[in-house]
Parts: sequence; structure tokens; C-alpha cells
Amino acid sequence: MTSDETGKSITSTDLIHHGYEPPGGFKSVVPGIFKASTVVFENTAALRSRQWKDKSGYTYGLHGTPSTFTLEERLSTLEGGTRTLLVPSGLAAIGLVGLALLRPGDEVLIPDNAYGPNKDFARGELKQWGIEHRFYDSQDAAALEGLINERTRLLWVEAAGSVTLEFPDLAGLLAVARRHPRITVALDNTWGAGLAFDAFAIPTPQGPQPVDISIHALTKYPSGGGDVLMGSITTRDPAMHHQLNMTHMRLGLGVGANDVEGILRGLPSMPLRYAAQDAAARRIAEWCQGRGEFLQVLHPALPASPGHAHWVATCRAAAGLVSLVFDGSRYSAQQVDAFVDALRLFKIGYSWGGPVSLVVPYELQGMRRFGPFAAQQGTLVRLAIGLEQVDDLIADLDQALSALGPANA
Ligand SMILES: *Cc1c(COP(=O)(O)O)cnc(C)c1O
Repeated sequence: MTSDETGKSITSTDLIHHGYEPPGGFKSVVPGIFKASTVVFENTAALRSRQWKDKSGYTYGLHGTPSTFTLEERLSTLEGGTRTLLVPSGLAAIGLVGLALLRPGDEVLIPDNAYGPNKDFARGELKQWGIEHRFYDSQDAAALEGLINERTRLLWVEAAGSVTLEFPDLAGLLAVARRHPRITVALDNTWGAGLAFDAFAIPTPQGPQPVDISIHALTKYPSGGGDVLMGSITTRDPAMHHQLNMTHMRLGLGVGANDVEGILRGLPSMPLRYAAQDAAARRIAEWCQGRGEFLQVLHPALPASPGHAHWVATCRAAAGLVSLVFDGSRYSAQQVDAFVDALRLFKIGYSWGGPVSLVVPYELQGMRRFGPFAAQQGTLVRLAIGLEQVDDLIADLDQALSALGPANA
């Protein structure tokens, strides 16, 4: 270490407790990013009186920073809710809802075509706490009524369904749930992203109806980069938010400032990206429909796709996902794998919403217990459309389809 003008040697204390204060009044077009575990207080009175739950102050990094509060507020606006919580992944949002709301003896109803790990959470975690689950057919609101009993506390809805993309009868499901005031309705809104429809104003014959909770995998569209994992939970009811917030706090579910920065950066361009991926997915879906290889092309905007009428009644847009069903009696799983392996621009991998188009094959057998795919054999290939030129993606599909080889008669 050097010495200062007076000959006193400079210590680590001088570097840590440095006197320089940058000038105030800094403004930029992007919000500053704040990183902290420790938050310091002016004095002990401030330490004792400071509140974090209502965003009136800061107590500890885990309980909020200007960065997390800013992202929460923007997501509340996107969703049409009032309060939002951030968690480390979309799946953590699903888990937190279950842990905060359910008690031993309660039951949760989950769509048969829900995001798979939501079902696994019920089977693996909730079950061991004495919380039962049942899977329901998201197309059959009348049948839902028959599954409800005095223990039913939570109804998950997901629009569109994962992988098979059936669009549910959201209005019908909500109407059934609302006949039972003790049931909380939680929506997995990852596909809609707050853009395709309004979670807190779902069109129904009785007028717009809210869900109670809307969760997102911010990992997908809000990030848009394929480089951040995060989830959110948005509510309108202060008591519901409080209940979730206390469990969130007790579990210590924090998110990192760098990741918050990634989502804050992605959010402004999300509507443009979503619209571009929506348009590209529809063009690709229509091109696929014109081909002979597929038993069915699944995309809620296609009239033959399951739940299309519900999508029309609910949505003003659709996400960039398309699923292609290969008939198992015409093409073996090995042939479909050869098609997937032959793709060059589409990369093999999970998730969606980023710039790179992705593909995942799923075996249909045993995947569904209700609906058109319950008895279907074959392979479904899910495409997640990125931001490449659509013509290039179509050319890629075209060349890869030649790797399929001949169909069985
Ligand atoms: C990806 C996804 C999740 C989970 O998000 P992660 O951040 O990957 O945990 C939840 N629900 C749906 C519908 C998803 O697509």
C-alpha cells in the first residue's frame, strides 16, 4: 500500500470506507441495477421501524431491492394484477403456490396436459405432505364439477396446454370454480405471457373474469434471451399476496440482480418478439399442414387444433409453439428422431421464447389420459419458433423431412 500526502499509510479501511460520493442527479433511460445482501440503516430506529412488505423500504437483499421492486411493478402492470413476487424459476412459482396455499388433507386439481413438472410436484412433494391431487380434462368443464369435493382448495389452469397445445375452456372452468368460493384458481400464464389474453379479465359469457393467481416462467418470453431462469407470481387480492409473500420470505426465495437486469432488458421488446414469433409460428404451422407427413399439426389458431374455438373466444394472439404429430403406424420413433437430428437451425433442447428455434420429440403413448391424444401412438415433435427468418426455418424443416424416409403403408 502507498502512503497519503501526510505520510499515513493507506489501509483496506480507507478503500472500503472511501469518502468519494458520485454526483447526484444521474438519470438514464434504463433503471439502475442494485445488488445487495446487506442493506444499511441510518440508525437503530430506522432498523427497527423499516418495512419491506409494502415496498416502503429496504431491510435485506432477500426482501427486495429497487431492482426487484421495479421488475415486480412492471410485471404487475403487464399482467393486470397489483402485486408480484419473483422466484428463481417458473417451476419455483408453481411450487410456492402449492406450499403457500395447501394444507394436509387438501386437494389440488391439475390439468392432464399441464406443464409436466407441475404434475411431478404434486406427485412427488405435495403427496408426502398429505395433499392429494387429481388430473382433469381441460376441455371438459362439466366433468370438472364432478371432481370437486369439500377438500378441493386449488385449481390449476394452463392455456394452452403443454406440448399438445389444447386450448382449455377457460371461461367454463372458471365458472365451475366460482361456484365453490373456497377454491383458488391459479393460471400458468407462461404461454400467454400477459399478451395473448388478460389473466385478470378472461372473456366469459358473464363478462371478464379474473383468476386469483397468475404465474409465469419469465425464463421464456420476458427474458427472450435463453439465458435467464426466473418465475413470477402475480395477484390482485392483498390477502392472497400476503399469504404467498410470507411463504416466499420463509423459504428464502431470492433472485439475483444480474438476472433481474436480464428480464428488465427483455421486457420492453417482448410484445414485438411475441408478435414476430406468433406470426412465424402460424406460417410454419400452415406450411406443415400442407405437407403429407403429419397426422396433425397443433397450434391453437388452426381450426382443426383441439380447443381452437376456446382460443378464438379468449385470445388476441398466440405464442410461437407448434407441435407436429407423426402417426406411429406410418413412421417409427427412429424415423422421427432422424428428422429431428437432421434439423440444422432448430436446436434440440427444452424451453422457448429465445432467439434460437428449438425442437423436442415426445412419445405420445402414456402421455395423456384425456382428449384426442389419450389413445394415440406415435411421436409428437414440438417446435419453439425463434427469431430466425421464417423462410430459412421452413427450408430447414423441408430438408430435414427428407431424412424421415418412406412411410409404412
Ligand atoms: C417453462 C415452463 C415452466 C417452468 O419454467 P422454468 O423457469 O423453466 O422453471 C412452467 N410452466 C410452463 C408452461 C413452462 O413452459
